[in-house]
Amino acid sequence: MSAPALKLSQVERHYRQGDTRLDILCGADVALWPGEAVALVGPSGAGKSTLLHVAGLLEKPDSGEIFIEGTKTAYMSDDARTALRRMTIGFVYQFHHLLPEFSAEENVILPQLIRGLGRGEAQRRAGELLDYLGLLPRRTHRPAELSGGEQQRVAIARAVANAPRILLADEPTGNLDPHTAEHVFDAMMALVRATRLGALVATHNMDLAARMDRRVTLRDGKVVELS
Ligand code: ADP
Repeated sequence: MSAPALKLSQVERHYRQGDTRLDILCGADVALWPGEAVALVGPSGAGKSTLLHVAGLLEKPDSGEIFIEGTKTAYMSDDARTALRRMTIGFVYQFHHLLPEFSAEENVILPQLIRGLGRGEAQRRAGELLDYLGLLPRRTHRPAELSGGEQQRVAIARAVANAPRILLADEPTGNLDPHTAEHVFDAMMALVRATRLGALVATHNMDLAARMDRRVTLRDGKVVELS
């Protein structure tokens, strides 16, 4: 079998707060396979965002190893980690963080240009993704002219614009009403399945968590499988 899209092995992350040490991740192990969606659930403050940041190479663990498609990352230079992150990992957050002065289409084109793709190719891919997510008629709209659900679907299109292998989502539907949340979730899951992304999705929505392949939580800094 091929390597997991993402694997965390014995990851430690502690924060200092004055004289005390907050132990957030204490030997966290988790693997994410291509095409698999895993829900990360648990109360606020449990360390879900920390786990996603560390998994996404945005924050270095204090110890432990993060493998991206089997490649070790702990001893990489910052530049190499950034390049690997840009190529292999897409992020979606609770708030869309789209660039307000750019259209939906431009928001999906920009990360591809940053990666070095030509404008024509980037535009073609943005069109395909926006079409897939049912947003083609909205492609020239700016974020402020889109509904909350449309904004999040554009954010998902942007996250996968560079064809990552891993999608890390932090409460991607947390700001939406239940009906819209379901619609956005369905769109995200369809993309995960179609492109065989490994997706780790922090959510408080237990209905959506139940529709993913597995559910994990953080207990005493370790990743624990829920049945
Ligand atoms: P969750 O996403 O599950 O709500 P977080 O990962 O955001 O949890 O936070 C876990 C704990 O770590 C919280 O107690 C939070 O206050 C603390 N924490 C997060 N980031 C930092 C930081 N940069 N410095 C100090 N403490 C932090």
